[in-house]
Amino acid sequence: MRLILLGAPGAGKGTQARRISAELGIPQVSTGDILRDHIRRGTELGLRVRGYLDRGDLVPDSLILDIVGDRLGREDCRAGYVLDGFPRTVPQAEGLEALLERMGQRLSAVVALETESEALVRRLSSRWTCAGCGADYNAMAAPVPDRCASCGGVVGQRDDDRAETVRHRLKVYEEQTAPLILHYEGLGRLRRVDGLAPVEVVFRAILATLG
Ligand code: AMP
Repeated sequence: MRLILLGAPGAGKGTQARRISAELGIPQVSTGDILRDHIRRGTELGLRVRGYLDRGDLVPDSLILDIVGDRLGREDCRAGYVLDGFPRTVPQAEGLEALLERMGQRLSAVVALETESEALVRRLSSRWTCAGCGADYNAMAAPVPDRCASCGGVVGQRDDDRAETVRHRLKVYEEQTAPLILHYEGLGRLRRVDGLAPVEVVFRAILATLG
């Protein structure tokens, strides 16, 4: 199963990708997680991309395509993967198609998590994230622990989840990523799921679209 999860920041891509990964036994490939890991480790790539993430801007397509090319070529991706946060621009989608062709692979499905922006601003500004495993905690639903219940990692707010950066990320999404919905719809690949439903309902709906 080779799956793309599309959706605005805060639509639930990370949460759903983790569940799909566990359910189907395929890796979650999150470009955001890969970039944050480089920044944490202070690699050369991390230093190059840090400013983009802090501002909520997109990292240049060529860098992202290199990262994804490297990741999808690894052994654990042979049986499939769920792409979370990639592609984010039409050139990235085209780059992915070229990459898949070179690897002799085809996408199984593109699932769009549909949302609306005010709900996303509320969600993201109350989202706390584990620095270890990426698990999300909702500060509006329950008190957030200092340490992650799953892996014991430190739980904190992502710098780019502050309200003003969130609004900018949503604008970037509308301008650069939303056109992908039409792109995949045009290719007859798109399946839509209500991303504002409860997590479990969204998860079941995604599995149902995969047939
Ligand atoms: P995410 O964790 O998916 O919300 O991504 C966090 C940030 O990483 C984004 O705001 C971008 O700065 C960067 N990023 C992640 N994925 C991509 C991508 N596919 N293309 C460009 N930038 C990305």
